[in-house]
Amino acid sequence: MLKVEGLWKTYTVDGGEIPAVRGVGFTVETGEFFTLLGPSGCGKSTTLRCIAGLEVPNSAEITLDEIDLFSSRQRRSVPIHKRNIGMVFQSYAIWPHMSVYDNVDFPLKVKGIPDRREKVMRALELVGLHRLEDRSATDLSGGQQQRVAIARAIVMDVDLLLFDEPLSNLDSKLRIQMRFELRQLQKQLGITSIYVTHDQEEAMVLSDRVAVMDDGHIVEVGKSQDIYLKPRKLFTAKFVGQSNLLSCEVVSVDGVNATVKTVIGEITTGAPDRSASSEGFLMIRPEHIPMSWTQEELPSSDVNVFEGTIISETFTGKLVDYRVRVGEFTFEVQTPLHHALQKQNRVFIQLPPERCVMLAKDTPGTS
Ligand code: ADP
Ligand code: MG
Repeated sequence: MLKVEGLWKTYTVDGGEIPAVRGVGFTVETGEFFTLLGPSGCGKSTTLRCIAGLEVPNSAEITLDEIDLFSSRQRRSVPIHKRNIGMVFQSYAIWPHMSVYDNVDFPLKVKGIPDRREKVMRALELVGLHRLEDRSATDLSGGQQQRVAIARAIVMDVDLLLFDEPLSNLDSKLRIQMRFELRQLQKQLGITSIYVTHDQEEAMVLSDRVAVMDDGHIVEVGKSQDIYLKPRKLFTAKFVGQSNLLSCEVVSVDGVNATVKTVIGEITTGAPDRSASSEGFLMIRPEHIPMSWTQEELPSSDVNVFEGTIISETFTGKLVDYRVRVGEFTFEVQTPLHHALQKQNRVFIQLPPERCVMLAKDTPGTS
């Protein structure tokens, strides 16, 4: 288990201190795939580099399987080469003048580990490169080079694997394929992993749990599905996927449901959790809004039905994106293709209460 507490890191730039990570803490269970997700510059790489030992935190308590890797309290820091951690970067960072085999063999050789060939070949086989062992590393495609980097990171029986946007330099098709490979490999090896990305889809596919980061803070941590379907913070709802956000005020709560007042009228939602305040936002994802030409065609036609006007229609391949104006508010609505024949501009949309999520207004820097 990896535990990070109170991690602060500032950089000195032109004599001034720039805060990059401001009091980050989280726990990663043994064997878990944990992702730091957030916009560029929010402090993901800095957090990862502090765990690896590539950066020195201003203060932190970082323990891996009960051993202090870094402790401000104990004034202790395990040097980088003694942390048993594998790391894969966005730039492949493999040695161009060496063969595939020698690249993967290198960390074992440096440590004088016996039975190296067996270990190297096993790692190469796991990433599907065992037939290319003699190839010069420069004669490989980007995807193959990244596989070499992954093999090199896992060849050492590490306690922790760290990935910093490893798929970002690959083209989109390969990126999607390698997501699945990486996920499988991690499950097969069972190595605790922390992955850094700004790509929310990648985070969803790969992770057991996701920590959403913003401006040096962790905003919220949750299972991939919950982060998407039941975000607890406005920032998450905005950053992860598309969402309709209606400013709202709670009118009444009765057990499982709540009624909220919005600019388009009253809406019935699932009850806000106890932490939600009486004012906030109601969130619903575009693909969770049924749309139809008549009210009767909606799945259940009484609750939260609104009449609106289609103001644009965009074909995206699998789905059609509509913008639907209801009074003062414009909804993003996504429907499957079979729905897409535009018969008229007047439509009915429905906001299923169980798909409506109540969110409090964000206060910056709280989690
Ligand atoms: P992310 O990986 O989420 O994009 P980083 O951890 O790389 O974010 O950066 C967080 C903040 O720290 C940014 O404002 C960035 O400009 C700054 N930063 C990162 N590395 C350095 C550095 N070596 N020197 C100065 N500032 C840095
Ligand atoms: Mg980064």
